[in-house]
Amino acid sequence: EVKKNVKNGYRFYAKDFNTQIEEKLELESDLRKGIANNELILHYQPKFSVDGQTVSGVEALVRWEHPDKGLLAPGVFLPVAEETGLIFEIGTWVLKKACQQMKIWQEEGGFRVPIAVNLSSQQFHESDFDQHIQYVLHETGLEAKYLELEITEGMMMDAETSTVTLQKLSDLGVKISLDDFGTGYSSLSYLKQFPITRLKIDRSFINDITRNDHDRAIVSTIISMAKHLKMNVTAEGIETKDQLDFLMQNKSMEIQGYYFSKPLPANEVEALYLNKAAI
Ligand code: C2E
Ligand code: MG
Ligand code: MG
Ligand code: MG
Repeated sequence: EVKKNVKNGYRFYAKDFNTQIEEKLELESDLRKGIANNELILHYQPKFSVDGQTVSGVEALVRWEHPDKGLLAPGVFLPVAEETGLIFEIGTWVLKKACQQMKIWQEEGGFRVPIAVNLSSQQFHESDFDQHIQYVLHETGLEAKYLELEITEGMMMDAETSTVTLQKLSDLGVKISLDDFGTGYSSLSYLKQFPITRLKIDRSFINDITRNDHDRAIVSTIISMAKHLKMNVTAEGIETKDQLDFLMQNKSMEIQGYYFSKPLPANEVEALYLNKAAI
């Protein structure tokens, strides 16, 4: 909360502890109701070839159409969902909805690209998570190779369990992406050990890519490392032509960011991009 303080300009005041708890409880009870009332929706952000001509994939991103507060971003409600266990219900819904949508697109117009779904750590560490995935694929009729699960480095800290889960998922034929790559608790041995098919270079390295030599060096190095490890690469958060120009050198790279497209409702993705889909 920001209050005007005449002497010191703007100052931050910690909210009263009780107020914080009350707000959280209210958010939790709203979220429960919201889930029951089907207020959660998915937006989809297409991912492109560097020339912007081909859609190579689509990422599902959850939003909440709150009756009073409007469209809420996942950063507002997923932390509470994770604290309260509602994340399991949300995660299950997201997976099913995303797979269903891609199946519909495939049947309608040959949108034969993978749908990427973000996982939360608790979901990923659920026992028999691979069986859950198998069930969702079976239920929706989507082929495993069209599902890409996005995990983050932090989820793999328990290396033994993670290896087993990732191997089972990989055996199903599902693709595994390492999201926000470079920002987490990273060990290069993970890359060798786990069946990861794609690295997504975090937006924070892309931001200053045209101005900062170090960011440029880091991005180039991640790209060439991925190539040597036979992994695909996505650059996240491309907002400008200059940023894109830097990445153009790498023809096989995948581009995601506002420069090509923001996350959009399903009908807008269809209207704008169905004819640009890679087969
Ligand atoms: P993420 O998976 O790294 O997704 C990328 C985020 O960056 C999205 O924010 C997207 O809207 C935003 N973004 C994409 N291109 C640009 C760009 O060019 N510039 C900028 N400034 N931002 C861009 P969003 O939708 O708010 O999601 C935030 C995070 O919430 C996601 O980060 C992901 O970690 C998490 N999340 C979203 N949906 C789900 C979900 O269904 N389940 C789980 N467990 N997590 C989710
Ligand atoms: Mg993601
Ligand atoms: Mg990311
Ligand atoms: Mg993220």
